[in-house]
Amino acid sequence: YRHNEPSEVMIPTPNGDVYIGEHHPIVVTAGPCSVENEEMIVATALHAKKMGAKFLRGGAYKPRTSPYSFQGHGESALSLLAAAREASGLGIITEVMDTPDIDKIAEVADVLQIGARNMQNFSLLKQIGKQTKPVLLKRGMAATIDDWLMAAEYIMASGNAQVILCERGIRTFDSKYTRNVLDISSIPVLRRLTHLPIMIDPSHGTGWAHFVPKMALAAIAAGTDSLMIEVHPNPKKALSDGPQSLTFEQFGELMDQVKHMAAVV
Ligand code: PEP
Ligand code: MN
Repeated sequence: YRHNEPSEVMIPTPNGDVYIGEHHPIVVTAGPCSVENEEMIVATALHAKKMGAKFLRGGAYKPRTSPYSFQGHGESALSLLAAAREASGLGIITEVMDTPDIDKIAEVADVLQIGARNMQNFSLLKQIGKQTKPVLLKRGMAATIDDWLMAAEYIMASGNAQVILCERGIRTFDSKYTRNVLDISSIPVLRRLTHLPIMIDPSHGTGWAHFVPKMALAAIAAGTDSLMIEVHPNPKKALSDGPQSLTFEQFGELMDQVKHMAAVV
């Protein structure tokens, strides 16, 4: 895996081309876990833009542990993401769960997210590798770094070299106080092993809004290229992942701290 030069991923968005990589400023992605309705997704996009985010995240297709939990609005949420993209100019990052959905998601998304639970869905990875849109590959919750890098190889070997690696916390013996254990050490380790750009998701990584800002800053100190932060206009009422979502105000405060610490695009 050893490379001399870090690679960068260039993502065209309505607001201009955004580069993610070691030689570029920090890129921030913000948004709700799930796209719930037009009002909330557009409001979140406009706030995220105002605070300096370059991408809006939001799930249309949601991988939920329980089949009785909200599963995402699916196809109808894609047009809401398109509306938020139009209103804010932010690029869109949203998850692809299943191969038949790839084409319709790629019409709206600027970056295709592969979730932790699908990190080793090899048939999905091969199909995503045939896409021209960049891919955000989340680390499986029980994946080793080598498993994760090989999953990235599946995408690249199928023809798509535009891969960003996203650490989102792994399972350990202790999940009493945090949902997962955010592997901050993965950042310097990945720097040794791969040229691929890195994103850190402290929202899924900790599971609690209270812990998100500190871990976001820790990730910057450790050298991440980008961050993914869950933000919701009213976390208490969120249809998924409310406890780990920042309010607009909390996200604004975090962005102020981030800008003190590092250059943000
Ligand atoms: C998400 O980003 O909302 C998500 C489901 O993430 P993960 O795949 O890391 O659990
Ligand atoms: Mn989530």
